[in-house]
Amino acid sequence: MVELHPDIEKVVLSEDQIAEIVAGLGAQITRDYADKNPLVICVLKGAAIVTADLVRQIKTPITMDFMAVSSYGDGTTSSGVVRILKDLDTRIEGRHVIIVEDILDSGLTLSYLIRLLKSRNPASVAVAAFLVKDLEDRESAVSPHYVGAHVPNEFLVGYGLDYAERYRNLPYIGVLKPECYL
Ligand code: 5GP
Ligand code: MG
Ligand code: MG
Repeated sequence: MVELHPDIEKVVLSEDQIAEIVAGLGAQITRDYADKNPLVICVLKGAAIVTADLVRQIKTPITMDFMAVSSYGDGTTSSGVVRILKDLDTRIEGRHVIIVEDILDSGLTLSYLIRLLKSRNPASVAVAAFLVKDLEDRESAVSPHYVGAHVPNEFLVGYGLDYAERYRNLPYIGVLKPECYL
């Protein structure tokens, strides 16, 4: 048993559960993209950790690229504003692209990204969301093609997810203790 970080109130997904989920996503993508040489796009920074694990579970040739966008500030609520901080290096015309997202909440970030990428005439655009928040009162703007797990509508940290840039390195997904929010 791994020592729990003192700021974490509860674990939502353990390291073992995460590994199983990511292996499952990798197997699906391997099947669906055999011989398609997809471009796997990591949406920085949150998806960096899951992308690194996911690509090693994809057993067919791929290439990788990275984008950085920002929709959240340092806090825990969406600003509704999406900014491109880093664009792709790759031309995606005619390519099959798979966008890897850490967590899908309102879907604002992703719907913007999908529109932008589609305007560059790729062969296809798919979304692999590691986590999808269960939203009772609203709908997400995007339905991902691949979903790792549905999670409760709480603010999560770990496995790439930050609070004020902290906790990305936790190997599990958890909820912070209330006193850890500034
Ligand atoms: P959306 O645009 O779907 O509302 O928000 C997507 C982005 O917001 C995610 O890629 C992630 O960076 C951030 N986000 C959404 N929910 C959470 C959460 O529970 N914890 C953390 N740390 N970030 C989140
Ligand atoms: Mg993200
Ligand atoms: Mg963040």
